[in-house]
Amino acid sequence: MTAAALKQGVDAYIWHVIDEKIDHSLTELTANHGLILAQLTVGLRKAQKYRDLIRTNDMLSAIALADSLTELNNRRALEWDLPRQIKKARTQKTPMSLIILDVDHFKKVNDTHGHLIGDRVLQLLCKRLRHNLRCQDTAFRYGGEEFVIILANTTGEEALVVARRLNRVVCEEPFSISNKLTINVTISLGIGCLQAEDDEQGVSLLHHADQCLLQAKTTGRNRVIASNYLSHIPHLNAVSS
Ligand code: GH3
Ligand code: MG
Ligand code: MG
Repeated sequence: MTAAALKQGVDAYIWHVIDEKIDHSLTELTANHGLILAQLTVGLRKAQKYRDLIRTNDMLSAIALADSLTELNNRRALEWDLPRQIKKARTQKTPMSLIILDVDHFKKVNDTHGHLIGDRVLQLLCKRLRHNLRCQDTAFRYGGEEFVIILANTTGEEALVVARRLNRVVCEEPFSISNKLTINVTISLGIGCLQAEDDEQGVSLLHHADQCLLQAKTTGRNRVIASNYLSHIPHLNAVSS
């Protein structure tokens, strides 16, 4: 019975054999109950330890995948999430898009106001971006002052609407650092939309969006550029805001 119980995956077991033909003494029965109670206490202690371990694990995973400055997901989280989102989109036959964005002339912000103010601008910028995303959009800090947003269940055209909104909300209102200091910032954005020929890790999708970002930078910054495959839609094609 012990072997069978262990094979079935029990963590603890209690032998509780009472032979009705034998007249058990009161001492014997009390000892038996004591043993059961002790075993239950051990079981509860193990369960509590297991729960603590899961909680600590969750906390460590959250720390490992979060960016401490902006509280967005970090690049490791993106590398973990992007292939999964691609797989999900392909399995469910839904569209998927991605925005990559970079702060324009951010070095100048640091050079003029110092790194601490630069950090604050990044925090406020991320807060504003987050508030202007939909629930299915996930933002990641890709590095430095560069961010990636995965847009689940989103066509390239819809991604363009989201990107334009982000572009507008950033440039329209300066970031308020203190009563005396506000800083104007703009962003450039590139859009990629998942294609059948894209690899499952998301490397080519990221590359396409990054090429668009590069184009946004070289053509004047503070604008959105979408991939060529959106060019057949005249009013949506590679537009500056
Ligand atoms: P561009 O429009 O071409 O993107 O110009 P840029 O000045 O934004 O680009 P560049 O790559 O020359 O400089 C990026 C700057 O962003 C330099 C770097 O110190 C700053 N930066 C990156 N990460 C952080 C950060 O966490 N905090 C602060 N304060 N600055 C950062
Ligand atoms: Mg920049
Ligand atoms: Mg950059």
